[in-house]
Amino acid sequence: MQPDIAPGKPLAPIRHTPRVVMITGGAGFIGSNLVHYLLAADPSLHLINVDALTYAGNPANLRGVEQAYPGRYSFIQADIADEPAITALFSRHEVDTVIHLAAESHVDRSIDDPLDFVRTNVLGTAVLLLAARRAWQDRKDVRFHHVSTDEVYGSLGPSGLFSETTPYDPSSPYSASKAGSDHLVRAWHRTYGMPVTISNCSNNYGPYHFPEKLIPLMIANALAAKPLPVYGDGRQIRDWLYVEDHCRAIECIVRRGVPGHTYNVGGHNERANIEIVGLLCDVLELMRPSGAPGGYHRLITHVPDRPGHDRRYAIDANRICDELGWMPRETFETGILKTVRWYLDHPDWMEELVAKRGATRRQGVL
Ligand code: NAD
Repeated sequence: MQPDIAPGKPLAPIRHTPRVVMITGGAGFIGSNLVHYLLAADPSLHLINVDALTYAGNPANLRGVEQAYPGRYSFIQADIADEPAITALFSRHEVDTVIHLAAESHVDRSIDDPLDFVRTNVLGTAVLLLAARRAWQDRKDVRFHHVSTDEVYGSLGPSGLFSETTPYDPSSPYSASKAGSDHLVRAWHRTYGMPVTISNCSNNYGPYHFPEKLIPLMIANALAAKPLPVYGDGRQIRDWLYVEDHCRAIECIVRRGVPGHTYNVGGHNERANIEIVGLLCDVLELMRPSGAPGGYHRLITHVPDRPGHDRRYAIDANRICDELGWMPRETFETGILKTVRWYLDHPDWMEELVAKRGATRRQGVL
């Protein structure tokens, strides 16, 4: 497998060859995309997907995977904070690589139920590290990769970018719990010498995204002719990355990353939320005309802002580009077209989540 090579950049050497990979949170949005991506990318990989199947874990994201890749994929329902269960998994399987994604991930929910976030994101990460260390001892031919977020850095003013040396300054219980998990992963490297890597990534979008998050929520509501709730003035700026580009970045770091290093991952796509919603309305109008005067734009409704809402995130992704040769393949324009097409082609996937799980309900209002 070759990563995409950034023009003029040297290709970093392979430092680790994964064989048996434990993916945590593989039934969620990014995790399920990663399962599909890795199984297709490398026929020698065996994946063990450990997921508690919370409200956000969806077996439908992985339908057909076991049959498509016989003998190469297993699913285990387990809670990462359950120490005996996780320890038993490490003794049953010869895991040489952990890619840790399992988390409570929705900022609004973290405002209502912060302890769930501390339990899974902080305690769960510590349990995984502990179990991995017990199994691996001082081995260096193993990897623990932790998937984290740019939200740990807090909020930016109108200019500037988050780099790997930006001090942590999280605003929400979600980002604070992810910051805690990042510190634990680094501590396992410094204290025990465990070969770890961390990635801090910007907002992802693409298939299998739970419709409580901005892009799939807007698509679901627009298609149901429901209001499109924009928090506050909608001028909050985020960097957006197509989920498959993130999967390629994770694979690149696992194989080529330097143990102990952190890599920021971003799409060079800064957009205000209100811009995203407007663009989605335009794309939907082209692909599935609303037939209403004012089109989907008529549904845009400003609602009270999220408490503690960060104003701007922007990523300096030069390290992963310069050191490892990764760069995103999709622009926002190509990625968003693929994304809207996917949701239009998978109405049953969306309807099940909205009907059974109340996915589009607003949370986190004080
Ligand atoms: P998600 O909410 O869609 O999926 C999380 C998965 O973790 C679900 O399948 C859920 O069942 C599982 N899970 C939750 N608690 C668990 C527990 N205690 N034990 C085992 N499994 C559990 O999240 P996502 O958007 O796919 O994010 C995945 C990871 O990437 C998270 O760590 C998140 O912080 C990070 N991240 C996400 C984004 C983004 O834009 N979505 C950006 C940067 C980083």
